[in-house]
Amino acid sequence: MPSVLGLKCMKCGREYDPSATRYVCPTCGSDGILEVLYNYDRVRAVLTRELLEDDRDLSMWRYLALLPVEERPPSLTLQIGWTPLYASQRVGPQLGLDHVWFKDEGRNPTASLKDRASAIAIAKAAELGERVITAATTGNAGSSLAGLAANAGLTAYIFAPASAPAGKIAQLRVFGSHLFLVDGSYDQAFDLCMEATERFGWYNRNTAFNPFMVEGKKTVALEVAEQLCFEAPDKVIVPVGDGCIVSGVAKGFRDLLTLGLIDHLPQLIAVQAEGCAPIARAVMWGEPVAYLENPASCADSIVAGIPRNHLMAVRDIRSSGGLAVTVSDGEIIDAIGFLGRSEGIFAEPAAAASVAALRKLAASGDLHKGDRIVVLITGNGLKDIQNALRAKGTSLTIPPLIDAVERAIAGGF
Ligand SMILES: *Cc1c(COP(=O)(O)O)cnc(C)c1O
Ligand SMILES: [Zn+2]
Repeated sequence: MPSVLGLKCMKCGREYDPSATRYVCPTCGSDGILEVLYNYDRVRAVLTRELLEDDRDLSMWRYLALLPVEERPPSLTLQIGWTPLYASQRVGPQLGLDHVWFKDEGRNPTASLKDRASAIAIAKAAELGERVITAATTGNAGSSLAGLAANAGLTAYIFAPASAPAGKIAQLRVFGSHLFLVDGSYDQAFDLCMEATERFGWYNRNTAFNPFMVEGKKTVALEVAEQLCFEAPDKVIVPVGDGCIVSGVAKGFRDLLTLGLIDHLPQLIAVQAEGCAPIARAVMWGEPVAYLENPASCADSIVAGIPRNHLMAVRDIRSSGGLAVTVSDGEIIDAIGFLGRSEGIFAEPAAAASVAALRKLAASGDLHKGDRIVVLITGNGLKDIQNALRAKGTSLTIPPLIDAVERAIAGGF
């Protein structure tokens, strides 16, 4: 890891050599999440606008100098990252906003942003000579790890709640993972995965526990900045579950500011579902995060009653001068249809929560006409068609007769 200086515990501040620990701070335990420290002078020499302009590697590996890995793992051939950033054509104007972009993370190999973190996990496993890798998941982290492990020839053990959407379970099966469907919540699947890791000695990708996942997720921010010609946005809207993506976005922009590649940090807008909003409530009320025993939302990817990265996430949202917002399941389902018919982008419920938040904050006056706003569309809608079918749409069942078509059209269909 040429530019990594060390790992710093965000609770006690102790610094460790990266070879000293694989996961959390040995003193603080599970709250002692480690942050990766870089030698930015070193990075500055190899990561410049000019070099990036000449770099034809259109994937997350173009930022290798800012990643905690030795090399792009040769066996991981899937193309991860460099997803499109679309300027909004109708959603922004309809809401009275002039500069809205959608970062379509559904375009990653397993159709979610999680591939960015899984790629780092695969690289670390390869460096450490580990052949078996594990993760707990609401669906996407696991299907992502399973797909990338299949591509790289590793074995994956995945722990998912049995209630995960069928599309994600299908991915997990198709990618050949050893899938434990846990009769319980994601939070319980997480704890079980941790116990299994201890017992069987697998390499663990779990969010917050593995310090490198935030580093993978930050590449989405690096791309957004580069795609906007290094004019950082004013606001980034991020759906939040465990709180790793939002901290990844914060880290990415902080890295770029330190390197002098951008001149300001965006405000982070964290979105949670009304039925599972421990981080949003902590941010809104200025209180510590209170765990939730029975979280519930159709946006399964952000249903984390015990958000594993809450300390870092709340710190990052607050220090960005950002805010948090909650949206109802009804607003989320509505936003799936709104985004789909307005832009041709298909979002899964957690991803559409971003759009629901955009709508809500535009209406409440928290967003301004001239704000440059990036909305993260974190996962593709085909992962969860059951919820997508609840969104507003126009269909009519008819017999295979032209008269039926004509009657419908005449009736205003
Ligand atoms: C994982 C995920 C999130 C939330 O990310 P966290 O790091 O858990 O906060 C949001 N949207 C989608 C589609 C996800 O898969
Ligand atoms: Zn510590």
